[in-house]
Amino acid sequence: MSQTKPTILVSGGAGYIGSHAVQALQNAGYDVVILDNLVYGHRDIVENVLKVEMIVGDTSDRSLLDKIFATHKIAAVMHFAAYIFVGESVKDPKKYYNNNVVGTLTLLEAMLAASVKKFVFSSTAAIYGEPQTSPIPEDHPKNPINPYGASKRMLEQILADFEVAYDFKSVCFRYFNAAGAHPNGLTGEDHNPETHLIPLVLFAALGKRDSISIFGIDYDTPDGTCIRDYIHVCDLADAHVLGLEYLLNGGDSDIFNLGNGNGFSVREVIETVKEVTGREFKVEERDRRPGDAPILVGSSEKARRVLGWYPKYPEVKEIIAHAWQWHQKRHDE
Ligand code: UDP
Repeated sequence: MSQTKPTILVSGGAGYIGSHAVQALQNAGYDVVILDNLVYGHRDIVENVLKVEMIVGDTSDRSLLDKIFATHKIAAVMHFAAYIFVGESVKDPKKYYNNNVVGTLTLLEAMLAASVKKFVFSSTAAIYGEPQTSPIPEDHPKNPINPYGASKRMLEQILADFEVAYDFKSVCFRYFNAAGAHPNGLTGEDHNPETHLIPLVLFAALGKRDSISIFGIDYDTPDGTCIRDYIHVCDLADAHVLGLEYLLNGGDSDIFNLGNGNGFSVREVIETVKEVTGREFKVEERDRRPGDAPILVGSSEKARRVLGWYPKYPEVKEIIAHAWQWHQKRHDE
């Protein structure tokens, strides 16, 4: 006899990481309802690939949230809806605190009112600020250096207080550099504006950009360029399902890094893109980008130990190959 699995509300399910989490939930047999305001999300992906119910609206719309919880039997919420541009958050912090903090708080209040008390939250390695050790463990000091990181840090604090006061259980995942695309070729990264290294290098390989700039070649790293921990978006998505099941099985609130544990430099990423795509393009060496830490690599040992999570795609070459497949298809459309 088949058992029906519960329904999960995925906020931001039309976005990059959310759309991969929806597919991971579907593969694990869950019903999904998406809430997305479509400011950055993609309606076509929901309609043509995910094929689940999507409610178009905002996490700050309390009456809409009350209606969703009244009409759907939601067991837990996975929350991806957030603004993510670090530079923009410095220029316009109110936008970030309003959406990422106030919007999420409204969602949490609606959840409490509906007695839905399980929450999987997209946090970020940006909450650590300048790393003091590498790889970074979860108990590393938290000193975010921009409003984006600060907004996520505030939410982590709110969630810790909610557990004490309301028995509200959450899993926070602190992502390192999410990258890649689904191996099925149907979903991938599509930010506008795009600021991330791997898609920008692939745009150069596609000829959509004249060149790729390296921001800083005088860092204290083996080749002088910054080192990051690139983690495949499907591995992130799988971790979310494990985090959800941990909560559904009665787990207490907890926090996990999600990274590869392996660092790759900007130059290594560029060389790997050349290798994977077989294309040449111009590389320009520029000044450092303000706010960049030389090395950001996470320890995900805790996620392995507690959740049994292992990345399926730890190789940056494979991450780039999947992203390349997706960007080529997008480009040809
Ligand atoms: N980077 C770069 N050129 C670009 C975009 C990014 O050299 O056009 C560098 C950036 O300075 C950082 C790394 O690539 O060291 C990863 O940047 P990204 O914006 O992808 O992610 P972040 O680590 O900032 O979250």
